[in-house]
Amino acid sequence: MDRPEVRKLVIVGGGTAGWITAAAFARLLGERLSIELVESEAIGTVGVGEATIPQIIRLNAILGLDENAFLRATSGTFKLGIEFVDWGKLGSRYLHTFGDTGMNLGNVAFHHYWRRSISGSAAHARGLWDYSLHQQAANQARFGKLDRVGNTAMTGLAYAYHFDASRYALFLRDYAEGRGVTRTEGIVERVERDGEDGDITAISLKDGTRVAGDFFIDCTGFRALLLAETLGVGYHDWSRWLPCDRALAVPSERLPTLVPYTRATAKQAGWQWRIPLQHRTGNGHVYSSGFTSDDAATDVLLKGLETKALADPRPIRFTTGRREAFWAHNCAAIGLSSGFLEPLESTSIHLIQSHVSRLIQLFPRHRDAVAERDEYNRRCAAEFAQIRDFLILHYHRTDREDSEFWRYCKHMDVPDSLTHKIALFAASGRVGRDVDDLFRDASWVQVMIGQGIIPADYDPMADQIAPQQLAEFLANLRTLVTRAIGGLPTHEDYLRQHCPADASLLAA
Ligand SMILES: Cc1cc2nc3c(=O)[nH]c(=O)nc-3n(C[C@H](O)[C@H](O)[C@H](O)COP(=O)(O)OP(=O)(O)OC[C@H]3O[C@@H](n4cnc5c(N)ncnc54)[C@H](O)[C@@H]3O)c2cc1C
Repeated sequence: MDRPEVRKLVIVGGGTAGWITAAAFARLLGERLSIELVESEAIGTVGVGEATIPQIIRLNAILGLDENAFLRATSGTFKLGIEFVDWGKLGSRYLHTFGDTGMNLGNVAFHHYWRRSISGSAAHARGLWDYSLHQQAANQARFGKLDRVGNTAMTGLAYAYHFDASRYALFLRDYAEGRGVTRTEGIVERVERDGEDGDITAISLKDGTRVAGDFFIDCTGFRALLLAETLGVGYHDWSRWLPCDRALAVPSERLPTLVPYTRATAKQAGWQWRIPLQHRTGNGHVYSSGFTSDDAATDVLLKGLETKALADPRPIRFTTGRREAFWAHNCAAIGLSSGFLEPLESTSIHLIQSHVSRLIQLFPRHRDAVAERDEYNRRCAAEFAQIRDFLILHYHRTDREDSEFWRYCKHMDVPDSLTHKIALFAASGRVGRDVDDLFRDASWVQVMIGQGIIPADYDPMADQIAPQQLAEFLANLRTLVTRAIGGLPTHEDYLRQHCPADASLLAA
């Protein structure tokens, strides 16, 4: 019997996940596949998801997007990292930057030299972030393109974006439709399956339209209409480690100074985000319903706003975790339908992007592609677990005991994989990062130290230079950082010059 070939791709859902998927498939497999996206304006999208990580630059490059046009259309700003306020303890503050701190010397990472510099009589010791370009740029609200500092080995500014979520989906929709993707409006009411192998064969819409396909991508958000509701794929619930399960989102007026970073401020039973856009500020309170009420959470959110609210807070419910499988039969779930890791490190849009690129790399010629499916599921599961551990670190390594929520987080059992990483870093400053971990060593180092773990020791190779040389090295680095940042425009000026938001948005 002939094996059925995959020729028609149906994407169900038109949020950020649906349109990133449509755009990437149109760009990379558009010649081979006919692509149809079904979405319902009546149902709408989750409407959040406005902060990203640097990997998005790779997605934009694959799509061939012009950065300035993209930022103009989405009212975007630049992001150098996330500032964590009150996490390690009340009053603490650190920036998880997208770049390195200082500069490595020989084969030894900078933070080992820094650790050495604060040993013994540490009267003149400086903080790790005194050597961070990103931190100094954030402090001064400056931004510019800087690949490298002068002719030194010091790496420059790595960045990502903040943008308006609904504008982003529209921007990608234009892109995808311009490359042959067909969009069908309607509510999916029924899903048809093959009587023999159980594969999905078609979806039927409320108005009677039938959309048949060979491969289906479920981008229907938390509901997971195809993968969970139709194919019955279950869920791994991780809320014992990441207990936040609700959010309230509210836009407010734009910040007086457009800072180039996201802020995440820890609260009594969760945390509040602040995302600076050109025309408004995105805010939200992520909290655990087991430790506070919705009314109290609303109060916390509104009191924490720095500018006037522009709407009422919008509630969102979720369960942190992932689907037991990401691809079953002839259907893969991408976006919120595949699982959700709360937005503390802005990883969801990245997960969409990495799942799409993995699916394209493994995309089957035939419907019955068991080996490709198993490989896809294996890699997606590993990626979810690595990000999960990184998020748990922020909650678990804290001195806070001022609320029941923080006492729970501090004393909860965490996955063995994370316990090992913490122990290794605490003992020696070494990072037990997995080879394909999304987060770089520099990220683990910053969050470990930011959360209050000062390693007991440092790499003995950092002893190779004399004390005087070390002092000069550190002083030179500070001078380099100060000079490099002093030469950059303000973030606001950079945006105004290169990518001011469309006038209609700024006037709205
Ligand atoms: C509180 C919160 C904050 C977040 N912050 C960030 C962040 O800062 N950075 C980040 O990277 N990510 C963030 N995320 C995640 C991000 O919002 C999502 O990953 C992203 O928006 C993708 O959503 P989606 O497209 O999967 O789902 P949705 O936006 O919910 O889209 C679902 C689509 O499916 C359609 N649909 C559903 N059912 C049907 C049906 N029966 N018939 C037809 N169509 C249907 C809907 O109409 C819609 O088009 C956040 C998420 C939450 C909850």
